Amino acid sequence: MDNQIVIALTKGRILKETLPLFAAAGIEPIEDISKSRKLIFDTNHADVKLLVIRGSDVPTYVKHGAADIGVSGKDMLLEFGGADLYEPLDLDISKCRLMTAAMVGKELPVGRIRIATKFVNIAKAWCAERGIQADIIKLYGAMELAPLMDLADMIVDIVDTGNTLRANGMEPRDLIADISSRLVVNRASMKRKHARIQQIVNSLSQVVEASKEKVDS
Ligand code: AMP
Repeated sequence: MDNQIVIALTKGRILKETLPLFAAAGIEPIEDISKSRKLIFDTNHADVKLLVIRGSDVPTYVKHGAADIGVSGKDMLLEFGGADLYEPLDLDISKCRLMTAAMVGKELPVGRIRIATKFVNIAKAWCAERGIQADIIKLYGAMELAPLMDLADMIVDIVDTGNTLRANGMEPRDLIADISSRLVVNRASMKRKHARIQQIVNSLSQVVEASKEKVDS
């Protein structure tokens, strides 16, 4: 596997924006990923394979070297604690915001608050920085339901248009971080396969810059 480059992609909405970027950089799966239940795909380069996995698993695959490169939302990297990974490139796709949110107009209780989220580590760090006492309640989805059912006073969640919050009587409160998808690289791979990985990073970087220029002009 020493001359192979394995790239772990985040499935779902991030994948839809990642594949055109990779195609423009000259890397394409040889079959239609959306029409297959496979998890590993050959590409038009004999030395490059793509994995299609959950976003929350991408940092783990890359950290342990099961993948050399990954595409991961910054939210996942913040939650994972990305210090073990190189993060050479902001892909500038799947942009959104990580925010706190609560029921419209409702004041938070004085003292200890209950926060429901799948971003437990991010929520803990955010509370610690502000000296906020909180019980963090881990959920795996539909965070917006928690305040509605009085499971929590506040949530920490991804906000894009804000429609999901609005539809559930909630409003965004504090911005925790601006999010976009990032390219991450395993530290050992970066040393052992430096030239090839750098080539891939450079091609993607050129595509990202070109699409930024298109937006600016
Ligand atoms: P919205 O209703 O447009 O604010 O979208 C909010 C929901 O869409 C959130 O609950 C997220 O789960 C999901 N979402 C939106 N954008 C992204 C993204 N870039 N990455 C991951 N999830 C997202």
